[in-house]
Amino acid sequence: MSLVEQLYKLQQVDLELQRKQQELNEIENQLSDDKALVAAESKLASQKEQLEDKRKKQRSAEWELDDLQEKVRRIDSKLYSGTTKDSKELVNLEKEVKGLKSQIGLKEDVLLGLMSQVEEIEAKVKTTAEEVERLKREWEQRQETLGQRKSEVETVLAKFRGDRNGLGQRIDPEVLNTYERLRLTKGQAVVKVERGKCQGCHITVPTSQWQKAKAGDLIQCTSCSKILYLE
Ligand SMILES: [Zn+2]
Repeated sequence: MSLVEQLYKLQQVDLELQRKQQELNEIENQLSDDKALVAAESKLASQKEQLEDKRKKQRSAEWELDDLQEKVRRIDSKLYSGTTKDSKELVNLEKEVKGLKSQIGLKEDVLLGLMSQVEEIEAKVKTTAEEVERLKREWEQRQETLGQRKSEVETVLAKFRGDRNGLGQRIDPEVLNTYERLRLTKGQAVVKVERGKCQGCHITVPTSQWQKAKAGDLIQCTSCSKILYLE
């Protein structure tokens, strides 16, 4: 194999390596992407907080209602026990009961409102919790599938790295340097010559140049500096 052929082969392996490395990076990105799950979990946490808050309000409304009802019971028993004979006091007590009952009515409305809010949020919590569960299952499945894919790609990468090192070792370090520099600055180091034209820049290559390249000499295109390769 001529030097240029070796370089061309090296470049193919390097391109393959690059592609596989990109694939690995994408897999790793997907493996660590848990945004949807994190978002659903934080939604669930905030809905649970809301629910706790409404339940607290519901409980205190219930206590307040109990207090009011207890007050009414106490006055009622005073009224009907016959211990109070004073008519003015009786009138006042009745007035007080009336006031308390209207407070009870209002409190009951508040309580009903809170109860329906609690129900509504409970339904939301249920839906979000199910979503979190679903996303968790999907996440676990994805970890498994992607984990397998990752180790496959890693195996292939290791093989390519081995090939690459083997090829690189057989090439003169100075030539290898030129190759690396071209790849770094131009993305591609070795280009084919087809129908007399450099496929790097599409400029016609002088006959003497491509003949030397065909013979296996290391010839760089005078226009784009890439190494010319003829099959
Ligand atoms: Zn060129």
